[in-house]
Amino acid sequence: MAERTYCYWCSARLSAACLGNYLPDDALYACAACLVNRPELVLPPLDRATTLAGLFTLQRGKVLLLPASELRFSRVETIWYPAELLEYNQHRIPSQIAAKWLGREICSGSPSDEVFYRADGFFPQYPVHIDLAQLTPISLPTTLNPSLEETLCPDLSMAMQLAVPGILELIRDTHSTHAIVAHYHSFESTPEVDHHDHDRQWLASLDFTPTPGMLATMDAALNCLGRT
Ligand SMILES: [Zn+2]
Repeated sequence: MAERTYCYWCSARLSAACLGNYLPDDALYACAACLVNRPELVLPPLDRATTLAGLFTLQRGKVLLLPASELRFSRVETIWYPAELLEYNQHRIPSQIAAKWLGREICSGSPSDEVFYRADGFFPQYPVHIDLAQLTPISLPTTLNPSLEETLCPDLSMAMQLAVPGILELIRDTHSTHAIVAHYHSFESTPEVDHHDHDRQWLASLDFTPTPGMLATMDAALNCLGRT
């Protein structure tokens, strides 16, 4: 424990804020001055055009999409799961991210319930898009009283809001070749579609009928999309 009390790089005494609430055994800690003087220790700005991590908000309670294995994230067989960010601590190197996977009731096959750590240094190398086969299904509620806000699952609502920037990107790209966009255009152009209600018909053609629970879960994200 003693070595955790001092900066690994300059031996200055660390404040409790630098240490944070999560103390993995193999982490090193940097003081605030060393983070300023050693840019190699600090995460550079993330660009959505080059990495999906550009969508991440590194605040407690936010949902991140992370690979099941930190070192095998570039492999096509690696599955990516949503995880709740418990703490982002730049001083804790290379375990800046302390997180836990979203529960199995939401996300089947989540690796474990334990707190795990990730290095933010890998974020710039994360891919721009994840293949559908590498994503795990998320369970949506089928019934819910939407007037009772406390019955909403905050993890799911956050996951929906996390999707908004990606959806906007697709909608705004008039040349998008994304499979869902292409399917929608092809459905819309069929002559028998009633154009007064084609969105609902399109969803029905995919066997997707939003339940009250799903609509309530997506409410904040849909409002956000509607405003933009
Ligand atoms: Zn230092």
